[in-house]
Amino acid sequence: TNHISKPHIVLFPFLAQGHIRPFLSLFSCVHRQHPDHTITLVSTPRNIATVRSTLPSSSSLNFHSIAFFPESYSLPSNAESTADIPYALLTTFFEASESLCPAFENFISTLTGPVYIISDMFFAWSVEVSRKFNTFHSVFLSSGAYGTTVWSSLRLSVPLGLMPQVADEFQLPEFPDVKIHISQCGKNLLEADGNCQLSTYIQRQLKFVFQSDATLVNTVEGFEVIGLQMLRKQLPTPVFSIGPLLHSAPLSSEKSGITEWLNTKPAASVLYISFGSQHTIHARPMIELASALEHMNRPFIWVIRPPIGFETEEKFKPEWLPEGFEGKMKLGRKGLLIHEWAPQVEILAHAATGAFLSHCGWNSTLESSTYGVPIIAWPLSADQFYNSKMLEELGLGMELARGVVTDLKRDWVQEVVETVMGENEKAKEMKMKAREIKEVMDKAWNEEGEDGTSRKGLNDFFEFAAKKLAGDKQFSFE
Ligand code: UDP
Repeated sequence: TNHISKPHIVLFPFLAQGHIRPFLSLFSCVHRQHPDHTITLVSTPRNIATVRSTLPSSSSLNFHSIAFFPESYSLPSNAESTADIPYALLTTFFEASESLCPAFENFISTLTGPVYIISDMFFAWSVEVSRKFNTFHSVFLSSGAYGTTVWSSLRLSVPLGLMPQVADEFQLPEFPDVKIHISQCGKNLLEADGNCQLSTYIQRQLKFVFQSDATLVNTVEGFEVIGLQMLRKQLPTPVFSIGPLLHSAPLSSEKSGITEWLNTKPAASVLYISFGSQHTIHARPMIELASALEHMNRPFIWVIRPPIGFETEEKFKPEWLPEGFEGKMKLGRKGLLIHEWAPQVEILAHAATGAFLSHCGWNSTLESSTYGVPIIAWPLSADQFYNSKMLEELGLGMELARGVVTDLKRDWVQEVVETVMGENEKAKEMKMKAREIKEVMDKAWNEEGEDGTSRKGLNDFFEFAAKKLAGDKQFSFE
């Protein structure tokens, strides 16, 4: 044996809030289990500054800052995050992000002792850096096993138009048991011709993912039984599930009065509505949804953003809702509209919350399942379609709409909400299923026993990494 030294864990999230946040949850969870390991988050200066401001000063997370130089890519000069650029430049931003490679490589070259890189799927090119310096490389998936596998599988099969059986509904080439409907493919997937920049970029990253040493995924064995089977079939390397890693909201609901409001409502009576951190819906369905809420005898909390076509930061206009809607709802203490960042985890954890109308982003899906709240699904893009499909198949959700529709009908909204929240067999079954899954989630980090699958997953991951490196470099570990 050469020497004994503690591992240095390098976290390398993609430059987007939705990616950095799960990596911070990953940090907390690794740090809890291995307080002696050095953990460094690699990102660009402004992303690091943002992260620092949300962490307590006593946090033991280290940072390594690398500059982002997008000049040659005609991106806004201060763009460091997907939030800084218009959607049309996303592909360019992806490609520009590969220019971080030399700086990342420089950093890795300075590290001594065993190094474990945990990279984002969109930075999977870092596997080549890892090979150069004989470090351990893994990919952390912040979306679910099922959603990621289906999405990757579709991405690897573009152009879809050339698939022999392409019709309204078709079998996934790698997994013929899985049937996908054309409406479950996002626009950019359907339009991809296989040679376009985005397809090329994603396919290249997926190939790097396949070369990594291991995959960590923010899910739970007993929650995604089929999804994990599929992911393990798709990937040549071991998969460790370590969820649910939840990121608690920075805002206190005590201050905002939301908990107080929820405290006045009967158990499982409130419908919570949110389309995540970046999505919204069209103006017409927004009116229909509001008018359904107005006609139903159900309290609700709606995290509302300007409709599609308006800037997210724009001041909310009353004309986007039925006349007098917000005032009426407030007066009757029937509904709360939240125009800022909502304390979602706290809302879902509250006993008064009975269902979640969600776009089925993976974090929302996990949070809702962790707190045993059935989902009324309205997936809008990417893996959300497959998360929604999985929830329906598990009996945890019912789809209300799919994609950026404009023709949602008030009666249909009422029917679905009643089916999920009312006094009927289906609602009862969904509640039972949600309770069952909540238990699975609750036990995932149990200190002892077979149920603590995620605790075991993280242990196994570190054991696997240590062995792999020991084989490569004859290190010995404590
Ligand atoms: N979120 C929140 N308050 C909001 C909107 C979103 O706390 O007003 C959180 C939510 O709890 C979740 C994340 O932001 O953790 C959204 O992630 P998700 O994967 O569901 O969707 P995305 O925003 O990535 O589309």
